[in-house]
Amino acid sequence: MNSKAVAAVAPNGLSAAASEPVGPDTEQDIDLLLAFLNTTDAEASTDVLRDAEQWQQWCLEHTGQASVDTTAAREIRDLMRTSVGYGPLTAPRSTPPSTAQWPVHVRLEDGVPITSGTDALGVVLAAASRIAITGRWHRIKICPATNCLRAFYDRSRNRSRTWCSMRVCGNREKARSWRERHAPN
Ligand SMILES: [Zn+2]
Repeated sequence: MNSKAVAAVAPNGLSAAASEPVGPDTEQDIDLLLAFLNTTDAEASTDVLRDAEQWQQWCLEHTGQASVDTTAAREIRDLMRTSVGYGPLTAPRSTPPSTAQWPVHVRLEDGVPITSGTDALGVVLAAASRIAITGRWHRIKICPATNCLRAFYDRSRNRSRTWCSMRVCGNREKARSWRERHAPN
């Protein structure tokens, strides 16, 4: 069994910002989950998961693990994006997708249980589950600006953030609604 699975989470890991007193991996988990959710980019009209080779590269870069097929990854990404999306769900979810579950391992490290993935998607999902278990899932949001739709982490005290960036998307949206209100008929 690969005992390096956890250490492989975000090998390019940014230093923990220590703004929230949880585990030392929290910031890495957030970075990894956001990177996964943002493999689709509305502004650039790109999607890493449309190209098996790009996805393979993403997996090695972000998780140090091999990729799984893009269909499963895309289904899981889109389900998670829908769950944190802004406003009501757009599509009825009457038909459960084939990959609404994925194996994640729990192993003991010096007696301490640690979740880890055995492939790239498992590494991402282990990070996502730690975020959910520690009550942070509702801080993951999707920016509602239609040309943005980026996933971000809401660090505001009362979880009041709507836009990924007030400076960019918030202002752009304010300008747009102003133009609409003042458009000549
Ligand atoms: Zn945005």
